[in-house]
Amino acid sequence: MIYLDNNATTAAAPEVVEAIQPFFTKEYFNPSSMYAAAQPARDALESARKQIAAALGASLPSELLFTSCATESCNAAIFGTIRANPNRRHIITTAVEHPAVLAVCKELEHQGFDISYIGVDRQGNINLGEFVRNLRKDTLLTAVMHANNETGAVFPIERLSRVVKETDPNIIFFCDATQSMTKLPLTMSGTFRNVDILAFSGHKFHAPKGIGGLFIRSGTRCRTFLIGGHQESGRRGGTENVPYIVGMAKAIELAAATHHNDVKRMELLRNKLENALLEQIPNVEINGRETLRMPNTLNVSVHYIEGEGILYQLSGLGICASSGSACTSGSLEPSHVLSAMGVPFTAKHGSIRFSLSRYTAETEIDTVIEEFPKIVARLRRLSPYWDQKNNKPRIASPAVNQ
Ligand code: PLP
Repeated sequence: MIYLDNNATTAAAPEVVEAIQPFFTKEYFNPSSMYAAAQPARDALESARKQIAAALGASLPSELLFTSCATESCNAAIFGTIRANPNRRHIITTAVEHPAVLAVCKELEHQGFDISYIGVDRQGNINLGEFVRNLRKDTLLTAVMHANNETGAVFPIERLSRVVKETDPNIIFFCDATQSMTKLPLTMSGTFRNVDILAFSGHKFHAPKGIGGLFIRSGTRCRTFLIGGHQESGRRGGTENVPYIVGMAKAIELAAATHHNDVKRMELLRNKLENALLEQIPNVEINGRETLRMPNTLNVSVHYIEGEGILYQLSGLGICASSGSACTSGSLEPSHVLSAMGVPFTAKHGSIRFSLSRYTAETEIDTVIEEFPKIVARLRRLSPYWDQKNNKPRIASPAVNQ
């Protein structure tokens, strides 16, 4: 099996799996319990918090909350900000956010909030002028992702957050860093010093699924909404998932130790695949190629065939990737990200995303380079769009019952 869908999820690192074991069977106690046996679980929880907060450049460990995933973190950031600031009802986001943000914004629109969806250009760059023009007196929140999950395009968060704070320091800047965490440099005391809230998720960087993080800068008006227990200083009720929190801290430690080499390797392999596909297949384009991009992501549009057909054939060979379309209720919806970028119809339906990890081997990339052009050639032989493009209209089959 060749796994090239690491923006969807990653394998837990063996070191992570090892580190979390004792917290299932030996140190399984509730970290809030008062007896001495629970102390190691409590210590592990707080030392993971300190470690991740330090890696983020947070001023205080208490600025970091643990959640169950990035979807929860994004929901908590947006709904929490609204709860704490009832006087402002305008939110700025972008047209290419993950549904964890976009679906919340759509829901808020139904509730009477005014949402501005900022567009992107053909490469996935945010329209900076449009962003600035939309900042208003009643703007409560800007929700802008760091790196796009589909194309890998990176938004200039340092610049955007600085502009926001220079315009009105009361506007809260929230950033969904789910894809960039551990892959791109970011620090809450440096480049992200104007970012108030940051969301991330462990399973994107070799920690288990089911654990996320939410940085909320001290002083930020945000009332998180999972009410119940006193955990996480009363800001997110629910017994903490100590094993997975320990695992997330371990994954961040591992990433920090190998970051430079991992990024260089992934980028080298991604570029090898990209160049080979461009060289060997006519009428393909790389979405987001001309912009700053994540080192591990390759979004390729193959004109005149369906992405699902390509995926199916790749899957038959044991190659896992993903397409930009979501099959909803029988109709194939093209990716909202590629649509916002203005990718033409014949290309956005044939888009495939390959996403690498530190475990991707060069031989795996070589196999894809060998197989992918064959798949495309096979599917194009069956494609009426391809025939049309080559001025070879299909001969209509004779009608039955005539
Ligand atoms: N935000 C972005 C940019 C993502 O890519 C994803 C997942 O793909 C999420 C949020 C949601 O992450 P989770 O699966 O942890 O809820």
